[in-house]
This record gives sequence, C-alpha cells and structure tokens, in this order.
Amino acid sequence: MIEIALESETDFDGWRAAARRLCAAGVPPGEVSWRPPSAPRSLLGGDPEPAPHATTVRAPQRFVELARKAVCLRDPQRFSRLYALLVRMQDRAAALEDPSDRDAAWLWAADKAIRRDVHKMHAFVRFKAAGTGETGRERFAAWFEPEHRILELAAPFFQRRFSNMDWVIVTPDATAAWDGETLRYGPPGTRADVPADDAVEDQWRTYFRSIFNPARLKVHAMTAEMPRKYWKNLPEAALIPEMIAGAEARSRAMQAAAPTEPSRLSQRLIERRAAESDMGESAPAGLDEVRRQAAACTRCPLHCNASRTVFGEGPADARLMIVGEQPGDEEDLAGRPFVGPAGHVLDRSLTAAGIDRREAWVTNAVKHFKYERRGKRRIHQRPVSGEIDHCRWWLDQERRLVKPDLTVALGASAARGLLGRSVKVSDLRGRVIEAGGSPALITVHPSYLLRLPDPSRRAQEEARFIEELRTARAALGVSA
Ligand code: URA
Repeated sequence: MIEIALESETDFDGWRAAARRLCAAGVPPGEVSWRPPSAPRSLLGGDPEPAPHATTVRAPQRFVELARKAVCLRDPQRFSRLYALLVRMQDRAAALEDPSDRDAAWLWAADKAIRRDVHKMHAFVRFKAAGTGETGRERFAAWFEPEHRILELAAPFFQRRFSNMDWVIVTPDATAAWDGETLRYGPPGTRADVPADDAVEDQWRTYFRSIFNPARLKVHAMTAEMPRKYWKNLPEAALIPEMIAGAEARSRAMQAAAPTEPSRLSQRLIERRAAESDMGESAPAGLDEVRRQAAACTRCPLHCNASRTVFGEGPADARLMIVGEQPGDEEDLAGRPFVGPAGHVLDRSLTAAGIDRREAWVTNAVKHFKYERRGKRRIHQRPVSGEIDHCRWWLDQERRLVKPDLTVALGASAARGLLGRSVKVSDLRGRVIEAGGSPALITVHPSYLLRLPDPSRRAQEEARFIEELRTARAALGVSA
C-alpha cells in the first residue's frame, strides 16, 4: 500500500500533485492510502511509489473545480473517491457525467452539500462587538460550526461584505481574520475565544420574542430554512423551542380573547415600550454605535446578497424622519439612502413642499437591498413582512435616538416598519396618526409615481404626494 501524507484536512494541492504522479504510474485506487492529519500513518510505513509511465493525466476543468471543493467535505473517503474517479476518467472521460458512476454521483452530491453549507454560513454567522483593535477600528467576532470544513470557501464573502471593519470568525477547524487589508487563516478555536453574548443580543432576543407571531408559525418551513443544527449559535434561536411549544396555546388564547383584547396596534405599542424600557442603560449609546452595529448585521439572510447595510443619514436631532422601503441598486452601491431614481423624485417633491432634505433623517424600513439577479441586472424585490419585522429593530433604534417630531412613511413597507402591522396605504395616506408613541404620516412611495404609465395620472399623483408632504411640514409647525 502506498501512503500519501497530506498537509491538512483540505490539502487539495497536495492531493492533486500526488494523484497526478500515481495516476501516471498506473497505481490502482485500491493500492493508495490517503492520510490527512486526522488519519494516523501506519506503523509499517508505505510502499514506495513506482515511476510514472504515462506522459499526461487528463481531467476536465469541471472535475478540478468540483474536487477543490469536495476536499472540504467531512467524509473520510473524500481523497480516495476523487482518486478513483480520476483514474476512471483516463479511460472514460465521460465518467464525471455518468449518474451510474458512484464516485461521480458522490462528487455532485458533495458539491451540493458544500454549496448549501457555505450559503448557511453566510446567512447564520452572527458577529458580536469585540472591542476596538490597535488601529482604532471596532472589532467583531463570531463563532460558527459549519457542517463541513468550508471556512476558506466562505470567508472571502465576509471580506467583500464587511471590508470596512475588522472581524474574526472562529470555527473548530480554523480561524479567519480580516484586518482591513489581509485575510488570514489561523488555527482552530473554541467558542470561548469569542465574547459571550453582549447586551445588545439580550435586547434583540426580547425584540425577536415580541415580533414572533404564534398564529403564523410554520415549523417545517422554518426548520428547512434554518436547520436545527445551526440554532445553538444563533442568539435568537434559543427562544425558538419555547416559542414553538407555547405557540398553539398562545394562538388559541389570542383567538378566544379576540373580542376583549386591546387592538393589535395598542398591543404592539405596549410590547415596543416594554422592549424599549428593557433596553435601559445597555442600549446602543448613540447613532454612530448603532450604525456600526448595523453594518455587521447578519440577522436575516438579506445581508448575503447586498453589498452593504444602508443606514439612515441626516442630523442626529432631525425633527422629521423619512422612511422608505429598502435601498435600491444605486443606494446599495453608494451606501446612502434615496440617491437613485426614487431619490430624485423624493428630492424634487420635498423641495416643492418646502422641506429641506438636509434637515431630515432619511432611512429605510429594511437596510439591505433585496433583489433577484437577471443576467447582469439586479431586479428589486419587495421585502416580505418577516424581513421588515426583523429589520424594525434598527428603525426603532433610529427613532429612539433621533426622536423626530414626525415620521413620514413612504409606502406600505415603510408603514409596516413603523406600525408593526400591514396597512393599506390608501386608507391612511395624508393623515397624521400615532405610530409607536409619536406622530407619523403615511403616504405613497416615490417609486409608485415612477411606475405610473400615464403622464397625466402621474402628474396628478405627484401633486397629491407633494400636498401630503406639505401636511407633514405643517404638522411640524413650519408655516409656508
Ligand atoms: N427606495 C427606497 O425605499 N429607499 C431607498 O433608499 C431607495 C429607493
């Protein structure tokens, strides 16, 4: 038996170099023992490698790409299976595409498992604030236990997505650290290397509990999207078993009590106030801190595709807050709200209503761009209620800290972000109502105006929008 010692559990280059030599020497798969560090070497030592007799070893580029990922699979047979397939492909190049070839079928399944694991890691890593580094930049740390050894496949995503902060991701296999310039890999770590839950996580759990709707619980869908094995490292998931267990009873109680219960709006206000008072001294101190924490937000999978968090902007003591739906393509690239086509309509309308945008806090209900890719284009997709509810945490923080005298919600998503429930914009538009303890005015979204095909209808609706913005201005006590 020939023994090949590999340098690491995912040593693709070492495997490739040895596999080429052995294949060229005609060594059958059954005569090679692949030894990554986790597999002890035999005491007898291995047989010597015979001299190569073939000049070339052929493998399609696709095989190389798949094999590079497949070595990350936690499967003790991964190196030998790859070698067996490589040997078979020398006589039958099509083996890779043959569904009846057991090793080829394994390789395709491995690819699927690895891609899924990488996706889950992108979605479920939760960074915690870990103090300030030597450079003065805030540091974030996360503990994650991937199913396979995928850290090096997954880390470049975090480098792109969180390039402007220092972070470290610790896993049982290795550590990845980014310092703003270099992505480095280091030895494995433990959960203890990452700060225990911070105060913000406690508040977020309170919040998560308050947005959980037992009547809409779909355990199967939830566990398909967020498999149980990831729960142990998701701060909010600690609540799930308790919430599932109590959901049916809570839901029945809600139905039974419906006629005498306070309205859902009042219920929300009560819950929100409770959550706000729970925040106490440990709530993020200021807008800059909230902005930094939001930049590291991975609490819903929307962060996976967006380039960055687009946080609100404006004076910290603005009397007017304007809330849109979510950043669009241009906002995602610029990192600022309302700078694209909808922003131009908004700016024009604000000016016509006598409002100076520079005096308002401008933000969105959802802080990440949600889109579907079609070729090179990124097509906007509306956020669903759950996404708006998750992200409301950040909007609440902005409202708590800016304390605007009036908040204008542009469109249905913004209204849900503000009220915590879905409303029909046409029922409420143009009136000042109460939202979470302070006044709000709901109107249409500027994109609605952009989408109206008939120019005269558009002019009419734009005039109405400007009129509603004037109502907002009047509500602030600013005369024309
Ligand atoms: N639409 C929004 O709702 N917000 C933006 O920031 C841009 C477009």
